Amino acid sequence: MALRMSDQITLIASAAAGGVITTQVWMSGATAHTTTVVALLAIINAAWTTDALRRNRAQHTVTCPTPGCGVKAVFSSVKPDEQVRLITAAVDHSRHGGAL
Ligand SMILES: [Zn+2]
Repeated sequence: MALRMSDQITLIASAAAGGVITTQVWMSGATAHTTTVVALLAIINAAWTTDALRRNRAQHTVTCPTPGCGVKAVFSSVKPDEQVRLITAAVDHSRHGGAL
């Protein structure tokens, strides 16, 4: 899934901050080992940010299969047990038929 523009900006800002911090550590006279560790942490942070942004954007839509029923559940970033509850409520027309 491609990242949205706002997410791309967040990721670029995160990566840029990591680069600036790594450069500042190196310019302060830190050892190569310390600078390498800081650079690796910056890379890990950018990777974590990318993963978090993708997980937040992962959206699922489940629609009721009953003809004429417009009920659908749209959700993202929910725990597995909550996903099961939402899917079950959306596909079982008898559970939400009174809502129409
Ligand atoms: Zn339905």
